[in-house]
Amino acid sequence: MSRIVGIDLGTTNSLVATVDSGIPLVIADADGQRLTPSVVHFPGAGAAPMVGHPANRVRVIRPAETVYSAKRFIGRRGAEVAREEMTLTYPVAGAGTGPVTMRIHGRDYTPDEISAEVLKKLKADAEAYFGEAVTRAVITVPAYFNDAQRNATKHAGELAGLTVERIVNEPTAAALAYGLLRLREKSKIAVYDLGGGTFDLSILELNNGVFQVLATNGNTRLGGDDLDRRVVDFLVAKIIAAGGPDARGELPMLSRIREAAEAAKIRLSTEAEVEIPLPFLTPTFSFTCRLRREELEDLTRDLIAQTRAHCLRSLGDAKLEAKDLDQVILVGGQTRMPLVRRCVAEWFGCAEFEETRGDLRLGADYHKAAGPMLNTSQNPDEAVALGAAIQAEILSGGFKDILLLDVTPLSLGIETFGGLMNVIIPRNTTIPVKAGELFTTAVDGQRSMLIHVLQGERERAKDNWSLGKFDLEFEAAPRGIARVGVQFEIDANGILHVLARDTKTGHQKIVPMKSAVDVDDAAVQQMVEESVEHAFDDLKARQWIEAKLRAEETAKATRNGLAECGGELPEEQRVKIETALGAVEALLAAEDARTKIGEPVKLKAANAALDQATQPLAEILMDRAMEVLLRKRGLIQ
Ligand code: AMP
Repeated sequence: MSRIVGIDLGTTNSLVATVDSGIPLVIADADGQRLTPSVVHFPGAGAAPMVGHPANRVRVIRPAETVYSAKRFIGRRGAEVAREEMTLTYPVAGAGTGPVTMRIHGRDYTPDEISAEVLKKLKADAEAYFGEAVTRAVITVPAYFNDAQRNATKHAGELAGLTVERIVNEPTAAALAYGLLRLREKSKIAVYDLGGGTFDLSILELNNGVFQVLATNGNTRLGGDDLDRRVVDFLVAKIIAAGGPDARGELPMLSRIREAAEAAKIRLSTEAEVEIPLPFLTPTFSFTCRLRREELEDLTRDLIAQTRAHCLRSLGDAKLEAKDLDQVILVGGQTRMPLVRRCVAEWFGCAEFEETRGDLRLGADYHKAAGPMLNTSQNPDEAVALGAAIQAEILSGGFKDILLLDVTPLSLGIETFGGLMNVIIPRNTTIPVKAGELFTTAVDGQRSMLIHVLQGERERAKDNWSLGKFDLEFEAAPRGIARVGVQFEIDANGILHVLARDTKTGHQKIVPMKSAVDVDDAAVQQMVEESVEHAFDDLKARQWIEAKLRAEETAKATRNGLAECGGELPEEQRVKIETALGAVEALLAAEDARTKIGEPVKLKAANAALDQATQPLAEILMDRAMEVLLRKRGLIQ
């Protein structure tokens, strides 16, 4: 079997790494470069695409044919990408359920194809290093990538001629790199990973070589690129105010401004003030301005603040407080920004620190009681790739004393009666995992059942993200007979497989989920954020739907019972039942026409009162049923 390499396929930069004699290391390319910009340039006229540094160099002069940040679009439908997200310096298109595409020289490229070009270059670098073919890889993805994005990443690997042996979550990989030298230790850590396009926060427990992810949370659309965009907007406005051209829509000019903005942002991590020179934006207009670190912080503070909610949610999910953590490990290029470090230190109550040259140093009197340690020991650019290489080595039979237990970031389930989401695998469940449920038929003679697979954290099906629907056919059977077992399996890559089985015939089928880009990812991020915001309403909706289903059933049975043998009841009891029934029906009728929600607490109480009132009626019905049975068996006349 050929060797397996570890690849960090980043929004901004990508790397390939391996483990040599037990030591993880990043493989440099022929020019000695360890970081490959995730940039692809298409020269046209049948010429092979340029990848990495050479592509990055022509990005400013040929912006429309040079694709960067393709990871932002991988596994996403056209319809779900906001217009402003598409305002890049190359043409991005996409609508409806089709994939997002980049039109270059009249041909539409998918993000998978662009990423495959980057992967081919890394594969070639690894082959040059080993002097042999490399066909197998471990590739990392943001922990918060959904099913579609994971599948698309795998697809990109296949297009590049790589068998993707494992998809690993980026913060988990970073934790592996951090923990490799601490295999005999026991600790709890958080990995705060802010890269070019994505943010992840994972909490892990390390115990004698076991890396157990406790919780993960994040945002697949937040990263350094967004900060750059703020600086670009700031510069564009300044240029216009200085009587210069309006750069919006002017691709080459915008590309130059974007490059200057990012360079300024990076320099402001170590300098207090920088000059941004933009000579000859037009033949007659040159521009220059100064930007101070505080100004950059003011422009971007709200973006960084957005990561806080994810940190809090992860801690909550892990049932930990910040003070329970030993370390907060920073990875991803954007965590070099002093404001990011200050914010994280403050939110996690990290030990006293002092800022020196934009760097965060621990105060001399650091001690554990003061909170977790802000750990900047990992190279933020390389930790993820090194972790991928460690995972590759584990899969090749090395590092036998390491066990990695990762989790699924989003809950998976199916739609049930009343439009509710029935969770089958809750979020933050350790993977790989299998879980299933038996479903029964609702009506006599039913021949098929619609299974609607959902991903998300909301109570009602319609608020979650639809992964797909499928019809399951089986032999007709009486109502209520258990017929179908549906099993969800999340593999070690975090990818979902659905299996359905007819329990009578034993016939089973693997249900294909829709192709990666056909998956509706429209509001997944928003949905998860809203799940907390709407937790109370959602709970009320669930309680209402449950109470309503029950009330409707009891009311119907009561009406039938009264019609059948109400006359046998004493007047007083019959009135009592009718009053209780009236109360239930009045509450059902009072359901809000718009929200389809009523008063669950009142309805539950009314249901209970009706149950109580119908006791004598139930007894008469029982006696009757018994009489019928005994007569049938010839035991009474
Ligand atoms: P990654 O995806 O981890 O490679 O991170 C890339 C992001 O980190 C890009 O948005 C870079 O602009 C940003 N970045 C890299 N170095 C620095 C730095 N020294 N200060 C601030 N941001 C940086």
